[in-house]
Amino acid sequence: MGTENLQHTVITSMCGVCPAGCGVHVHLKGGQIDHMTPIKGHPQGIVCPRGMQAREIVYSPDRLLYPQQRTGARGEGHFRRITWDDAYTRIVDALRRIAADSGPEAVAIYTGRGNFEFGLNEMFAPDHTAESSANAVLFPFGSPNATGVGSLCYASYGMISSRACFGDYMRNVTEDLDHADLILVWGENPATDSPPLNLRRIKAAQKRGAKVVVIDHRRSETARATRAEWLGIRPGTDGALALGLIHVLLAEDLYDRPFVERWTHGFEALRRYVQEFPPERVAEITRIPADRIRALARAIGRARGCSILTYTGLEYSNSGVQAIRAVWTLQAIAGHLDTPGGKIIKMPHRLQPNRLLTPPPQNAPLPIGAEEYPLYYEVRREAHAALLPRAILEGKPYPIRALIISGASILTSWPNPALWRRALAALDFLVVINRFPTA
Ligand code: SF4
Repeated sequence: MGTENLQHTVITSMCGVCPAGCGVHVHLKGGQIDHMTPIKGHPQGIVCPRGMQAREIVYSPDRLLYPQQRTGARGEGHFRRITWDDAYTRIVDALRRIAADSGPEAVAIYTGRGNFEFGLNEMFAPDHTAESSANAVLFPFGSPNATGVGSLCYASYGMISSRACFGDYMRNVTEDLDHADLILVWGENPATDSPPLNLRRIKAAQKRGAKVVVIDHRRSETARATRAEWLGIRPGTDGALALGLIHVLLAEDLYDRPFVERWTHGFEALRRYVQEFPPERVAEITRIPADRIRALARAIGRARGCSILTYTGLEYSNSGVQAIRAVWTLQAIAGHLDTPGGKIIKMPHRLQPNRLLTPPPQNAPLPIGAEEYPLYYEVRREAHAALLPRAILEGKPYPIRALIISGASILTSWPNPALWRRALAALDFLVVINRFPTA
């Protein structure tokens, strides 16, 4: 659909920069993208800062438009253009050769956020997974080794912690920001979300009179955008803060007794454990003053509805699963689980297309890391990428010789890039699918 004049064309479309699918008007000048504006009334109704850079992304001189074959040593950055037919033939020949020599399980695929084009992700999700970053396109080839950024991100927050606390995945749990009178933004930064919809809801809640507290080791964009009360926490100590807040709730009898009696397991063990976390000790661990810890606990205990947004700030640290569980336990025993303004459980059994498709190959070995990370394997049915370097470099539990990396930059997103650099250099065959040349 276009509204055209000589200089300026407007196309109604969908922004393709990330998977959020914002409806946009694309303004073209001389046939090229000039800028985008949101479609009025669209559910997202926004063009975020990344979307505003669409022009730079689409017309970047660094953008890859054709297949390329490496000509120098791996890592030197020398390539030559080849045809699509040539690229497909080389890939298929190499994968078949490696499968014949070492078995199809010696081929793995790693997918990152750049691959989150939902049609493809759904089409090739491993079967019986609620959510997966892995692309199981290699299952029919005979390899169980689909893996992806989920090994680093989201699974411990959205699947493992969530199931341990609520018996369900985060996709079925949400925060009722619209009715909260206290909002904690804890190790999350909604101002930089794509799209930043929760920031909009937080600001609307502030207009209603809700108080916002940001707990983060830096004064984040969200803290500044909302002028929130900011608690600067020492990185990696969020679990101790949550336990200290629970300590105060119990000591001052500010918790929800009926909820605890009806819906919790192990409450007395928790009560004993949090005795080790009085505010003065937690202040030493977290570097947040004890009086501010007490004040926050009282605010949580007395709020009518307390929403807590949390995510990678806790997940990307040691004991992330346990820290997130402590935060959600705090929220629940303070009386803010499945209540207005708190954390709410959505209707179950929403339709998930294609989740019964793409079964793992019959008679194949378990994917890499399935034995070492059984919880991860249980919820994701995929390999754990943390153990790919060991499989490549040491052949344990069996060798990985070829890797397809789609929409990800492993060297800039994983810890220990030197190890990954050695692992990638040791592969017999490496295919990278991306918009831009990555590290
Ligand atoms: S969130 Fe931003 S980048 Fe993603 S689709 Fe919407 S406008 Fe585009």
